[in-house]
Amino acid sequence: ANSVLDNVDMKPATGIASDANLRTTTSPIMVLLVDDQAVVAEAIRRLLANDGEIDFHYCSDGTQALAMACQIRPAVILQDIVMPAINGLTLVQLYRETPETKDIPILVLSTKEDPALKRDAFACGANDYLVKIPDRLELIARIRYHARCYFNAIQRDEAYRALRESQQQLVDSNTALHSLNQKLEEATQAKSEFLANMSHEIRTPMNGIIGMTTLLLDTELNDEQRDFVETVRGSSDALLTIVNDILDFSKIESGAMALEAHPFELHACIEEALELLGPRAAEKGLDLSYFIDPGIPDEVIGDVTRLRQIIVNLVGNAVKFTNKGEVIVEIGPDAAATPKGNSEAFAIHVKVRDTGIGIPESKLDRLFKSFSQVDSSTTRQYGGTGLGLAISKRLAELMHGRMWVESTEGRGSTFQFTVQIHPNTATRPAAPPAIAAAKYVLIIEDNESQRRLLTQFAEKSGLLPVCASTAMEAEALLAAQ
Ligand code: ADP
Repeated sequence: ANSVLDNVDMKPATGIASDANLRTTTSPIMVLLVDDQAVVAEAIRRLLANDGEIDFHYCSDGTQALAMACQIRPAVILQDIVMPAINGLTLVQLYRETPETKDIPILVLSTKEDPALKRDAFACGANDYLVKIPDRLELIARIRYHARCYFNAIQRDEAYRALRESQQQLVDSNTALHSLNQKLEEATQAKSEFLANMSHEIRTPMNGIIGMTTLLLDTELNDEQRDFVETVRGSSDALLTIVNDILDFSKIESGAMALEAHPFELHACIEEALELLGPRAAEKGLDLSYFIDPGIPDEVIGDVTRLRQIIVNLVGNAVKFTNKGEVIVEIGPDAAATPKGNSEAFAIHVKVRDTGIGIPESKLDRLFKSFSQVDSSTTRQYGGTGLGLAISKRLAELMHGRMWVESTEGRGSTFQFTVQIHPNTATRPAAPPAIAAAKYVLIIEDNESQRRLLTQFAEKSGLLPVCASTAMEAEALLAAQ
């Protein structure tokens, strides 16, 4: 905001623009003649008499001229050089030094063509030099010309003043906006901190409830009591999930989410996430598998908890919103998102693909906003707070990546994200394959993703996989061997 101010000339506006007697190009041109000779005055008055646009005024006493000019504010002053009481050029200087008259065009009237005198007149601040008595046409033309310049300058200065005023208003409203913004940010920060503190406080007793109900479930209970306690346990788990989501979200919002950097194994991170969701997927009869591009180092450095959290979230949603088919996690390198230069960090691209209910295109843009669900019936049918994706997206961004989704309603969705991680260069050398090389293994699996995963495992262990999707196919393969 200051830079705008710096560029504005903040001197008080004492120029012609502040002239109370503002004129436009259509106003009459007020001319003040200052000359001690009444004959000359009369001659000039006659010269200008027939011009309806010119409003002629006369002052014969040089000592009164300045006061009169200040009072009537002419558009042009015709100033005689040789005067008895005060020299005409001294008067020109006085006009120039007086704020009210300093910009009024002055045409000096001389008795002779004298270059030295002309030089002095212009040096004192005169705008023009005429020899008495000038030709009528020329005199009027010069008066008009100087008046027009003067009026234009007044308009220009007025526009400049208005511009400066609106610039100042802009600076003022900018400053007001800035401070409002700061207040809003402070309020948001305070709100996030409050939420973070509250969620933390709520978690402690919640853990007590969950721990005690778990213990209670191990005691002897009749069926009805067990049913009650299991309901308490289920509700407490759900409540803790919500509180944890709020805690995470407010931590991210208040900028308090710090990521850790520890060595971990990528495949273990994915497996832990899938293990957690395996029972739910199995219950629904879904195939759950993953595939890691062999080109990606397995030993990496990053925040394993937060990466696992994103995957649990996306896979959890995929399982939740899929009733038939499969959920597959694919991890590949992402050259475009890998930082250039000599950093060792590299980007991975994770895709979580499902064959579930999909998402209508019109709702895709709302997905990653906090507390948003595709439709209000979702909560009733599937539960959830609508915070999971918002948290996951922000976590991916904290890991210098991004998150997006592709989906076809009724066919399924592919949630994807990139994150940057570092390879663990201090890794111990890879253990030799557990199984001796050059042994064949027959893989019979109808699910293509599972087959691919098992093939990859076999190859990693130094085995030679042979794949079949049905028992018949396997039999044929065996017969051919
Ligand atoms: P919630 O806790 O409600 O699941 P999320 O932020 O994880 O919150 O998801 C927001 C909404 O996005 C969900 O309620 C659901 O409508 C939609 N959604 C998320 N993942 C999927 C998916 N794999 N298939 C279909 N809809 C999804």
